[in-house]
Amino acid sequence: MRPKEVIFRIAKRVGAFALVRDSEWRRLRLLILCYHGVSLRDEHEWNGELYVTPAHLRERLRLLRDRGYTILPLDEACRMLREDRLPPRSVSITFDDATVDFERAALPILREFRAPTTLYLTSFYTEFRIPVFDTVLSYVLWKGRGSGAEVGALCGSPDPLPIATAADRERAHARLRCHAATYSLDALAKDALVARVAACVGVDYAEILSSEILQLMTPASVAALPHDLVNVQMHTHRHRAPRERVLFRRELTDNACRIIEMRGADSRLTHFCYPNGEYRGDLLRWLSEFGVEFATTCLPGIASTHDHPLLLPRFVDNCLQSPTTFEAWASGFAALLPKSRQYRIDDDLLRVGASG
Ligand SMILES: [Zn+2]
Repeated sequence: MRPKEVIFRIAKRVGAFALVRDSEWRRLRLLILCYHGVSLRDEHEWNGELYVTPAHLRERLRLLRDRGYTILPLDEACRMLREDRLPPRSVSITFDDATVDFERAALPILREFRAPTTLYLTSFYTEFRIPVFDTVLSYVLWKGRGSGAEVGALCGSPDPLPIATAADRERAHARLRCHAATYSLDALAKDALVARVAACVGVDYAEILSSEILQLMTPASVAALPHDLVNVQMHTHRHRAPRERVLFRRELTDNACRIIEMRGADSRLTHFCYPNGEYRGDLLRWLSEFGVEFATTCLPGIASTHDHPLLLPRFVDNCLQSPTTFEAWASGFAALLPKSRQYRIDDDLLRVGASG
């Protein structure tokens, strides 16, 4: 058991969770939860950092309800945070990317608990009925892990690229992605490459395609999401944040135009989520110029007025987080422990971002 888990269990037993949860310190803070996907089949076994099971999501929402947390729409919560008007035990829910499982697996549970959610949509793949290349390539390699096959010949590798272990698959995945980038393969050519990989490792790709797992929702499905429960916001069109201002603005413009087409001209697009959680100081200025007021990262933390509104931390909930760890974050207790952040904020870049 990890040391932090031990601390959390002891803290919970002696009542520290309840103490922090009901404190004024916690009332001044907002926990923003981050989810990516809810499994339609075995996605959580393939990648427990990206996917949770429907039962996992239901358990989390049940805990929040039973312990008296207030789940607020993110936009309302961010404004209340800024104006010091948050109710006790505030939580907001976000989902990244908008894969088909959001509609099929997450939405019925969010509805059941009447839990408002912000959905950060990356729009490029909504126009295709093929899965996102990087993720489906990883999934196919994992599905074929017991085949004994190797995929070196599919990307011109001089060495065999076996896929039996996680390290093997990581190497094969990187080489195949590099191959696709080197030859500037477009979305359809990349999908054809995945199909060849699947055939090579004995995986039925047609069946994966027909299941629609790892595919983005269609524009019609995004349009039909209930407005009273789901607020669709920006996540870039192609899930990337270019270093040139003009290209980054194009990502935002393309993304915003698609969202407005799907959700209506009265969509207030003032929220953004950094693709892959990668933020930079120059992006803050460009986001402000575009009218973005609040942006979320994957930095672990509980948001307060001390946070820059374009660098709000989130707790990424996934299969690796125990129920006690989840409760430690919900109560606020986990945020009191010494920081072990995965990323450090680059002060120089932040100054550049804040100065504009
Ligand atoms: Zn994303």
